[in-house]
Amino acid sequence: MRSLSPKVWHELQSAVTRMSDKSSLRNMLDVILLWLRRNYECFSVEPFSTYYFYELSHMDEKLMPVEYSTFKLSDLAHVRKVILRYKAKDVEAIARFLRDTIEELVTVEIDEQCPRCESHGMRIFVGKQNGLLAFQCNVCGHAHYSDGSKVDVGGLDFVREVRLRELGLI
Ligand SMILES: [Zn+2]
Repeated sequence: MRSLSPKVWHELQSAVTRMSDKSSLRNMLDVILLWLRRNYECFSVEPFSTYYFYELSHMDEKLMPVEYSTFKLSDLAHVRKVILRYKAKDVEAIARFLRDTIEELVTVEIDEQCPRCESHGMRIFVGKQNGLLAFQCNVCGHAHYSDGSKVDVGGLDFVREVRLRELGLI
């Protein structure tokens, strides 16, 4: 596993330091995605490849329902704090944290109960192959399609705002 260059990591840390307290969720998403895209060559290796950073950096964020995310403005301070705390060598933690943060920023949640762990709250995705909506548990990660079938790892994509609106989910 390669480590992240301290210079590249510092770039993101400086960017979040410069963010004002009035920054929106979309500002945070833009800052992270801009950083990923500027340094894309660092993210084609593990652990970033395992967390689909290539796909994250290619999303069309303007079409994503960021304003409907369950992420709260008050969570942004936490994100900034975590980014400033991690060192460049904490690559695994950085990869997981950024992936989770981006995912939370661009997905919406419904109050459905997970069939596996029975927690409430599942995020909505869409199947890459079949186009069906899919629901993923926030707690255990279990995911199933709207027809009840199981989701294979890596088979999901983010749902665009327009689709959620058509379906009456936002
Ligand atoms: Zn679960």
